Formats: sequence, structure tokens, C-alpha cells
Amino acid sequence: MSQRLKVILRSGKDDAVRRFHPWVFSGAIKKMIGPEFDGCTADVYSNRDEYLGCGIYQDAAIAVRILDFAPAKHNNFDAPFWSGKIRSAYRLRETANLAVNPHTNVYRLVHGEGDHLPGLIIDHYDGHLVVQVHSTGLYTYIDQISEGIKPVYGKRLRSIYDKSRETLPADFWQENETRGYLFKGDNDVDKEGHIRVRENGNDFLVDITGGQKTGFFIDQRENRLLLSRYSKGKRVLNTFSYSGGFSVYALKAGAESVDSVDSSKKAVKLSELNAVINGVSERHTAHTGDVMEYLKSAEKEYDLIILDPPAYAKHQNVRHKAVQGYKRLNLEALKRISSGGILFTFSCSQVVDMKLFQSTVMSAAILAGRKVRILHQLTQPADHPVNIFHPEGHYLKGLVLLVD
Ligand code: SAH
Repeated sequence: MSQRLKVILRSGKDDAVRRFHPWVFSGAIKKMIGPEFDGCTADVYSNRDEYLGCGIYQDAAIAVRILDFAPAKHNNFDAPFWSGKIRSAYRLRETANLAVNPHTNVYRLVHGEGDHLPGLIIDHYDGHLVVQVHSTGLYTYIDQISEGIKPVYGKRLRSIYDKSRETLPADFWQENETRGYLFKGDNDVDKEGHIRVRENGNDFLVDITGGQKTGFFIDQRENRLLLSRYSKGKRVLNTFSYSGGFSVYALKAGAESVDSVDSSKKAVKLSELNAVINGVSERHTAHTGDVMEYLKSAEKEYDLIILDPPAYAKHQNVRHKAVQGYKRLNLEALKRISSGGILFTFSCSQVVDMKLFQSTVMSAAILAGRKVRILHQLTQPADHPVNIFHPEGHYLKGLVLLVD
């Protein structure tokens, strides 16, 4: 016990922790006793010396991320600990019919706070697991996390890849090394480094080591399925198309044509490959370029447009600018939609909530002079759960609009 840090909260600062909110801000701390280094195990106590839970300490604004609340006692974050947590996350995916499903073998296994594992993301690609750690303190446990995954998958495990390079600050990597493959068994990557996965019966090539995020935007699975219902016979424009997720669904559901637009050449190439492996490349055209420029110069009218931009705001202080960005983007799309057309529009900025997003799209509709009705309000799927005590975990919002 002597190696553990004792963190005592200021009076009145224990309410959030008692309500199972996993973050202890540095300003809430009255006193710390014991070793203080990034990654040390921290036991959190109230001002009246009541044990509240334990987690991992880091010298930052969020000083402790709690991994275990009382009454569980003083856990060590060893491999069996991670196994227990990861197994419980796996059970949720079983409940959501994702863990063993002949049509879908891609899902998020651990969604940070939503799985009571703050700072940890693990995505599953048909037996390949990609880990992204979002706090330097937690990174200390990367080997234990990897060991913890193994018994959960047993023989089905093909590889474990650490992809924390982009999620931890650059200066951290001046003194530390990324681990790359933490486990590599039967490896079925092709020459280009792609693995092949299935989502709702559609095939996708995923570049786990060189792609964006962990390789694929798993959070749009349900929304892509919904898009299928609206695609038949339509001229579709998929903007911010990345590896062509929405494009493939629309094409397979009988779209007349699909134009994909993304600024990343690599992504565009992958979207073309994905159309090919699904046998739908004849009706698909992919463009490398800026979406706003494309929308402004497009002469063609579309019956269905998808807008899925990257997060425009990562912090509160740039929220206003982000809102302006969403307004301009939606306005340009509304100008290009045929009468009776459909717009799938998304925001993955956590600081822009549904109410604000909807009013922003409404401003765009006013400027465009179009009559717009909401058909669906969309969100993130069950493998991206939101801890009710940590509503910040809700980030993906979408609207399906009918444009008269
Ligand atoms: N809809 C995609 C995910 C989109 S992620 C899917 O379902 O998989 C956002 C994408 O936007 C990235 O691929 C990124 O390369 C692209 N991007 C970012 N800024 C852009 C811009 N200004 N113009 C075109 N593409 C852009």
C-alpha cells in the first residue's frame, strides 16, 4: 500500500465521484500523500477520510481517472483487473448482438468512460484489436491491458496493435516509444497492409496501422444501414467519405450513382477499392478534394447527400467557429439537393449538442430558402455507450432531413 498515492478531496468536491463520474480535477484535490508520478495508482478519499475509489494519477487538469469505485477496494491494475473489465465490456457487445454475428465482425470493444474505462479505446476488427490510449498515465499499463485482452478472445485473437501515437501528445513520444504490435498471431493482412472485415453484410478493407483513428469509422454502422433504405435509384453524394462506408451501402442498396469526396488521397483510393470488392464500382466515382469547393462548383443536382465532417470543435472555446462551419456546409449541401431530396447530416463535435446542431441546420435551411422536415434523429450505436453520469460521452449527432 505504501506505493500508492492517497488523494484527499476538498470538502464538497466528492459529489461527482459519489455519482460515479470518473474524473477528479486537480482543483478538487486538497492534499496528496505518497508518490506522485504519471501512472501511479491513486486512492481517492473524501475530506472526511471515506474511501471513494481508485484510479490512475497524472499531472494534468484531470488528475485522476477513476477505474474502480467503492466498495471495491484498492485494486492493482494488473492483467487480471483489465481482463475483468474487458470481459464485462465484451458482454455488452454480446447483448448488442455484435460479438458473434455472421454479418458484422467490426465493433468497438471498449469506449472509454462509456465502459467505465476512462481514456481507453479498443476496436475489434475480426480478431484484430486496435488499442488507443488517451492519457499518458494510463499508457503505463499498456502491457497489462494487452495481457488482459488475451483470455477474453482466446484462440480467436489474431493481433493486438497499439495505435496511441496520435492520441498522446507529441512530446510524450520524445521519451517513449510506441509499441506497435503487442501481439501478432495469424496475420492475414494483404500486401498493402489491409485486413478485410464485414459490416452488415458489406465487405471493407481496413488499414489499421496507417488509416485514420483505429482504421474505420465504426460509429456510423447503424446510420449507414438506415441510409440503405433511402438509396434506391438515387443520385448520391457522399462527402467526407473516408474509406467509402456510406458509399458502399448506398451502391449495394441500388443507388443510381454515388460520388464520394474526401481530401485524403489515401482514403479516396481505399473507397475505390471497397467499391470494387463489393462489386459496385461501376456506379461509383471518387474525387480527391475539399468538400466546400466541390459543393460550390458542382453543377450536378443530387437526390441524397451525406455530410459527415471531422469534428469542427474539439473545445468549448472554438464552438462558435464550429457552428459557423456547420452552417456554411449545410447551406451549400441544401443548395445542391433536388426537390424531395434527402440530407444525412452529422456532427461528431462533443461540444455541439443536438439542440445546437439542429438550430444550426435550421439557420442553414432559412438561408437556403428550403422547406425542411426532420425524418430521423441519429446518434452513436450501442458499442459506443454513454455513461449516464458522464454525458460528455455523447458526441455523435445526426439528422435525416427531407428537403421539399
Ligand atoms: N463518413 C466517413 C468518416 C468521415 S471522417 C465514414 O463513414 O467512414 C472525416 C473525413 O473527412 C476524413 O476522411 C478526412 O480525410 C476528410 N476531410 C477532412 N477535411 C476535409 C475537407 N475539407 N474536404 C474533404 N474531406 C475532408
